[in-house]
Amino acid sequence: MAVRTGEQFLVGLRDDREVWLGGERVADVTFHPKMARMAQTLAGIYDLQHSPEFRERMTFTSPTSGEPVALSYLVPETQDDLTRRRGALEIVAESCHGMLGRTPDYVNIQLTASRQLSAIFGEKDPRFSAHLREYHEYVRERDLCLTHACGHPQVNRSVGLSELPDPYIAVGVVDTCAEGVVVRGAKNLATLAPFSDEIFAPLYRPLRPDVEEDRKYCIGFSVPSNIKGLKFICRPSHDLGEPLGDYPLSGQFDEMDSLAVFDDVIVPWERVFLLDDVDLGNRTVTQVALWRHYMQQVAVKNIAKLEFILGIVRGITEGIGIGVYGHVQEKTAEIIDTIETCRAYMRAAEADAVPLEGAEGIWPAPEPWIAMRHWYPDAYARVVAIVQQLAASGLMLTPNEADLASSLAADIAKYYQAMTMAAPERVRLFRLAWDLIGTEFGSRQTLYERFFNGDVVQLRIRRYAQYDYSRAEESVRRFMGEVYGDLADQ
Ligand SMILES: Cc1cc2nc3c(=O)[nH]c(=O)nc-3n(C[C@H](O)[C@H](O)[C@H](O)COP(=O)(O)OP(=O)(O)OC[C@H]3O[C@@H](n4cnc5c(N)ncnc54)[C@H](O)[C@@H]3O)c2cc1C
Repeated sequence: MAVRTGEQFLVGLRDDREVWLGGERVADVTFHPKMARMAQTLAGIYDLQHSPEFRERMTFTSPTSGEPVALSYLVPETQDDLTRRRGALEIVAESCHGMLGRTPDYVNIQLTASRQLSAIFGEKDPRFSAHLREYHEYVRERDLCLTHACGHPQVNRSVGLSELPDPYIAVGVVDTCAEGVVVRGAKNLATLAPFSDEIFAPLYRPLRPDVEEDRKYCIGFSVPSNIKGLKFICRPSHDLGEPLGDYPLSGQFDEMDSLAVFDDVIVPWERVFLLDDVDLGNRTVTQVALWRHYMQQVAVKNIAKLEFILGIVRGITEGIGIGVYGHVQEKTAEIIDTIETCRAYMRAAEADAVPLEGAEGIWPAPEPWIAMRHWYPDAYARVVAIVQQLAASGLMLTPNEADLASSLAADIAKYYQAMTMAAPERVRLFRLAWDLIGTEFGSRQTLYERFFNGDVVQLRIRRYAQYDYSRAEESVRRFMGEVYGDLADQ
């Protein structure tokens, strides 16, 4: 099957999936008043693949079916392939102004990178490698939308998984049977889950090799989102059901986050990629650097989002006449620097891509991505602080569309105008800025940028332990030698 249309994507969501929102089971995520607009947004992204303008730039010819399939499933073999994939990512990110982190291409690329490394999974049992490759093809040919869920519930972070109050708080294996592996527990968390066709659940953190009770958590798998026993418990929707004019971002880009609960779900054997091998599992966690590929999507999203924010800031600063102040210019330039730093990291990672031993295709360089991943959460929070500083009270003292249409129109025209804008334009620009950083949707954006890619604190602790200090140490040793002479002579 070729790439799907938006309508085909929506039809695929109309099944008996178990999605819970506000204490109620959602009958149909494509019609629910607080979910339907996001479903439509995703449908629009699927439709892009069919538009005459973008079709060629978003697809490649499937090596098995000969049909056009999404470029996020391409195993990149050359620099050109990476550039081509970036082009497709840009079309998606720019279509939503970077407001969605989890467009389907994000997990598609993770799955493609997993396939590229499938040999590792099959080192002891080649079936696992075959499962990954076949699954990649299965998803690619059906153009499915995936969510992924890695962590476990935030119950007690200071003990191992098997020491939590219930051994199946984290997802663990309960049993095996002829059809597959029975799993129980929860994954924290799955963005986009209500709108997904499948959930991809790799092992995420190393397990303790010497603790027998931990072995049950050694499983990597995927299942359809509507499989029996799987439920998604959603956070409150940020789509308040209010007019889009009042909440221009919340009203169409709430990608939704949920806890994925597995109540004795039977994972079919062909969907199991890792099982009961802690040594191998821990190596997949430490060696399988899927981020070397999916960070390209992250960088493209960051750039699209920051350019959108810069446009909003520019409108505000020019609009209310504050662009004349030096500190406003300096803060605006800080956002520009943030955009260009993301671009530089991205181009460096792409330019230094190399083949990886034991893996298919080429792999973007790790160092620029690691630095970007560690730096960006604070950089984004700083951008949010700049928007707050520059927009000030205008962020919240802003009428809505009903006010604009009311008998207040004359007052609004007088008091809410800006130097370069009539009142409606100014009001809408500030409401956009508020939705970007101030509403529940906006706050979640900042939280997302801080944590979606892991906890930077722990990532940096790992970096401290693993970094190759030899050049730094040699630099100081050479300097000391030049100034004080060779220690051996003293
Ligand atoms: C909006 C959003 C969307 C997300 N989407 C997804 C998704 O789609 N799929 C997915 O799999 N995950 C997703 N995540 C989860 C994300 O990967 C985690 O939030 C992140 O890894 C941090 O884990 P945690 O939230 O459980 O925090 P915790 O691990 O509970 O950390 C809480 C605090 O304790 C500290 N801490 C905890 N343990 C340690 C330790 N061992 N050493 C030092 N400090 C420690 C942390 O530094 C942090 O300050 C998402 C998160 C957010 C916020």
